[in-house]
Amino acid sequence: MILSELQENEERYLMRTYRRAPVEFVRGEGAILWDAEGREYLDFLAGISVCSVGHCHPDVVEAVREQAGRLMHASNLFYTEPMVRLAERLSGSSLGGRVFFSNSGTEANECAIKIARKHAHRRGVAEPRIVSFERDFHGRTYGALAATPKLAEDEALGPMLPGFEAVPLNDAEALRDAVDESTAAVLIEPIQGEAGIYAVTDEAMLAAREACDAAGALLILDEIQAGMGRTGSLWAYEQTPVRPDVLTSAKALGDGLPIGACVTGPEAASVLEPGDHGSTFAGGPVVSAAALAVLELVDDPALLRSVRERGAALRAGLEGLAGVRELRGRGLMLGVGLEEGIDAAAVTADLLGRGLIVNAPEPETLRLLPPLTVDDAQVERAVSLIGESLLSYATR
Ligand code: PLP
Repeated sequence: MILSELQENEERYLMRTYRRAPVEFVRGEGAILWDAEGREYLDFLAGISVCSVGHCHPDVVEAVREQAGRLMHASNLFYTEPMVRLAERLSGSSLGGRVFFSNSGTEANECAIKIARKHAHRRGVAEPRIVSFERDFHGRTYGALAATPKLAEDEALGPMLPGFEAVPLNDAEALRDAVDESTAAVLIEPIQGEAGIYAVTDEAMLAAREACDAAGALLILDEIQAGMGRTGSLWAYEQTPVRPDVLTSAKALGDGLPIGACVTGPEAASVLEPGDHGSTFAGGPVVSAAALAVLELVDDPALLRSVRERGAALRAGLEGLAGVRELRGRGLMLGVGLEEGIDAAAVTADLLGRGLIVNAPEPETLRLLPPLTVDDAQVERAVSLIGESLLSYATR
């Protein structure tokens, strides 16, 4: 099928939930994608922070091939080794408690919300509340959606799950005021991704931790976009002054295969009991084998150092380009704030035409999430393409 046929058939057979760019990708390797016409693109979005060790990394492909040829599914009624090994690896590299696997980020957050509510009920809270930051994004299933204030406003999808509220990003005082005895959890992104790359300040992070401790609530960090090496440490919280009680991961964990995880520290490790939660596919042998291969590659001091160095080089290159107002983020999670009047969506489309993939999470921001394995030459190429594109917009 050629692109125009794909577009016609998509219009006919697929629900209209996505606005896609007019390109069909057929192959990927490292930071490069090829379209159906054989044209090459430098991928500085990595499937929205998913293909972090690059497209089709040979270790991940091999792990999937090997496991798919042996056993793909047995159900959660039985033991399978890759899942247990992955849980041990994830717990050991983070909070030290127990793990629940899911098939996506939103489901990892559903698990965290269940843990928080049950944990609060144990303290005798009848109507537990969950506090997030305005413009946080936690997913699209109803629990995570209720914690995603911008989307939860949509009355056409209502009624929403009760007990969720939001305070302005980094307003430490508002956060302290919002958390009381009835609070089950503070659920926040350490760096807001979908909103346009806005980091939580150390002050606000500490306020969240202290307020949770005082109220007996859980601090849940959604590291679905910012975790797994993206900011230059395995987990984003490592570069903050706090340690959460629960963290959620997904996206880069499977490098393109669907897997999420809700990881607890000791406090929350035993809240869920048999019958409280479950999922048919979650933590299956193939996705777990893939995630183990990914963790092996990402949880490596040399790779994490490279993320910090390439991130600094990317920042240095973008700083001072015509049309760039500010740079936000950490490591290889960068938001490029554009000068007023430059439409980020138009720049994104222009860059796609020039062979560079980025996206525009808000009208004045370009988001860059390249594979963590990106090299110096690719960073230089991206900077030069962004410079050329912005120059043409800044002078229009
Ligand atoms: N949380 C964050 C921070 C995200 O960025 C996303 C997806 O963009 C999600 C949750 C939802 O993940 P998924 O799309 O896998 O359900």
